[in-house]
Amino acid sequence: MEEKLARRRRRVLLIPAPAQGHITPIIQLAKALHFKGFSITIAQTKFNYLNPSKNLSDFQFVTIPESLQESDLKNLGPGRFMIKLAKECYVSFKDWLGQFLVKQQTINEEIVCVIYDEFMYFVEAAVKEFKLHNVILSTTSASAFVCRFVMFKLYAIDGLAHLKGSGGREEELVPELYPIRYKDLPTSVFAPVEISVELFKNTCYKGTASSIIINTVRCLEISSLEWLQRELAIPVYPIGPLHMVASASPTSLLEEDKSCIKWLNKQKSSSVVYISLGSFTMMETKEVLEMASGLVSSNQSFLWVIRPGSIRTSEMSEEELFRKMVTLERGCIVKWAPQKQVLAHSAVGAFWSHCGWNSTLESLGEGVPMICRPFTTDQKGNARYLECVWKVGIQVEGEIERGVVERAVKRLMVDEEGEEMKRRALILKEKLKVSVSAEGSSHKSLDDFIKTL
Ligand code: UDP
Repeated sequence: MEEKLARRRRRVLLIPAPAQGHITPIIQLAKALHFKGFSITIAQTKFNYLNPSKNLSDFQFVTIPESLQESDLKNLGPGRFMIKLAKECYVSFKDWLGQFLVKQQTINEEIVCVIYDEFMYFVEAAVKEFKLHNVILSTTSASAFVCRFVMFKLYAIDGLAHLKGSGGREEELVPELYPIRYKDLPTSVFAPVEISVELFKNTCYKGTASSIIINTVRCLEISSLEWLQRELAIPVYPIGPLHMVASASPTSLLEEDKSCIKWLNKQKSSSVVYISLGSFTMMETKEVLEMASGLVSSNQSFLWVIRPGSIRTSEMSEEELFRKMVTLERGCIVKWAPQKQVLAHSAVGAFWSHCGWNSTLESLGEGVPMICRPFTTDQKGNARYLECVWKVGIQVEGEIERGVVERAVKRLMVDEEGEEMKRRALILKEKLKVSVSAEGSSHKSLDDFIKTL
């Protein structure tokens, strides 16, 4: 009997949220756990489905049954969609998990832990029923987690009024949340505040989770991590940046255009502004044209990711706009770039970004200072940290206008101020490297977490 138990395979079940910025870090975590000897199952929905490619053939992929429409994600927007997905999956996931567990027992495997993205909170009800060890994974920053908590609490006091600062002054700092202003709280451009609050009420609910893993680093967010530890009263493990813990995985949902690396090879050191706004940010045609003009007048070269469908076309079709842009001097435009490779390239001197958390970590990990143009939710807080706490970024606020773009690019690429930011970014890069090395804080945190399995 003992011998049989000893031979039991230990499997971890991971449940990603269906979005690029959430799938990538969970796959990186899965890789790290697999390296430590665990078998891996990834349970995903049909939305933003990651195809198990040959590089991920060590993992088992399964599909969570649900009957939402493919168009729901686009029609509802991310917040409403996640709420609907959770409602849809409460029962179906429980049924599926019951059958899955029976199957695993017949092949003598033990599910040692279920790790679910905080936005897949319906998982908690099912794992509680089967008394499984469960852990929440937060793929955003610790301070974003704190902001969601605070936003939900402020709303509970007296609704919208408390989310706007006293007398509706959104520029005011939220007490004890420096550098976050009321306007930086993670409201969404896709849905009214009530929807975000409903979502956050669920994502902040720890339920029976035994701990929380966060894709962040102690040295970046110590006070937010301590805040969470106090509030949640369960262990909080900062184990990031996960892209530096586990080697790059083929997790792109779009095909990467590697031709831009050849283009970068021909550029001078630190001479290129890399522009990418992540996997779902949208821009108006007018903003794109203003940005293009500002970039041209700044006299700097640029590599720009223009994702298909990312421009709300009006007066000009996306194809026309694309043609117009490609004729710009000093520019290279692609539909999707191998971003980590781009940021690691010596030709890249700055990153114009929407400040998604993965992009932020990837830029910090390569010592690339940022021009921050957040679009929605946690990106606003990340931009504030980049500018006011780590001091490696410049935030561009207000309307996008060519003069503003030119000025921001020159501040970072030409001025002494930019040099200083670059120096600070390189120091942070070294700190992040140390954090994932054998004696580093994230490495130790991951080891501590694994000991609990
Ligand atoms: N990304 C990429 N190529 C691109 C643009 C983005 O590989 O051209 C990747 C990027 O490296 C990051 C992810 O897409 O890992 C975007 O995640 P992030 O959290 O920054 O933003 P989101 O897409 O969730 O808004």
